[in-house]
Amino acid sequence: MTGGAVNQLPTYSELLFSPLFFWPLTVFIGLVFGSFATALSYRLPRGISIVSKAHSTCNSCGRNLTPLDLVPVFSWVLLRGRCRGCGAKIGWRYPLIELATLILCLGFYARFGASPATMGMFLLAPVITSIVDIDLHYKIIPDSLNLSIAVIALVVMLAAAIAGGGGPDMLLTMGEGALAGMLAYGLGSIILRQGVMLLLKKDPMGWGDIKFFAAAGAWLGAGAEGAAAFMLVAGLAGVFLALLWQKLRGEREFPFGPAIILAFIVVLLWQGPVFLAVP
Ligand SMILES: [Zn+2]
Repeated sequence: MTGGAVNQLPTYSELLFSPLFFWPLTVFIGLVFGSFATALSYRLPRGISIVSKAHSTCNSCGRNLTPLDLVPVFSWVLLRGRCRGCGAKIGWRYPLIELATLILCLGFYARFGASPATMGMFLLAPVITSIVDIDLHYKIIPDSLNLSIAVIALVVMLAAAIAGGGGPDMLLTMGEGALAGMLAYGLGSIILRQGVMLLLKKDPMGWGDIKFFAAAGAWLGAGAEGAAAFMLVAGLAGVFLALLWQKLRGEREFPFGPAIILAFIVVLLWQGPVFLAVP
C-alpha cells in the first residue's frame, strides 16, 4: 500500500495560506496597518518623520499613551472614546481610519484569496485610508503616498512572479501592463484637466490628483472598460461630494481625492490588478 500525499503533513506555506490561519492573520495585519495609517495621517501633514519615536500623547492633558490606549479600534470602544487620564473626548476619526484599513484588508483577501500577492496588497490599505483622511482635511495628497502606491504595485508583481515561478519574463510582461496603465491614466487626467480649464476657466484638480491617477493606472492598466468604470464612479462620487461639501461647509471647492480613491478601489476589486490573473 502506498500512503500517497494524503498522509503527508502540510508544508509551512500550505499552513500559512490556509483559511484557518490566513483569516486571523488578515485581521491582525489589518489592525496593525490601521494603527500605521493613523500615524501617517497625523504625521505626514505635520512634517513629522514616520520613523521618529515620538510618544503619542493626549491632546488635552499631555499624558503619554500606553499600549493599553493604543490597541486599534478596541481601545477607543472600551474607553468609550475618552482619555483615561482627563476624560477628554477622543474623536472617532482615528478609530474610523483603523476600521477602514481593516475592512480594506479583509476585502482584498475575500476577493483575491490567500496568496503572497494578496499580502503585498495589504500594504495598499493604510496608504489609501491615510490619503482619504489627509485630502479631506488638507486638500492635498502627499507625494510620498502617491509614490507608495506605484512602489507597492512593484512589490506585488515581484511577489506574484516569485510565487508563480515565472521569473524575469513574467515580471517584464506584468511591468509592461502596469507602465501602459500609468501612461494612460496619467496622460488622460492631464488632458481632462486642460480640457476643463479651457472650457470652464477653472482648475478641476491639483498635481497631487494627477500623480494619484498615474499611480492608480499602474494597478488598473490601460483597458478601456476599466477606465470607463473608473470615470463613472469618480464622476458620481465627485458630484455627491461637491453637493455634500457645499451643504455642510458652504464651500465651492471640495477635495476630489476621496472620489477618485473610491473609483480606484471599486475598479481594483472588480477587475483585479492588471498584472495579476484573477477571475
Ligand atoms: Zn487626557
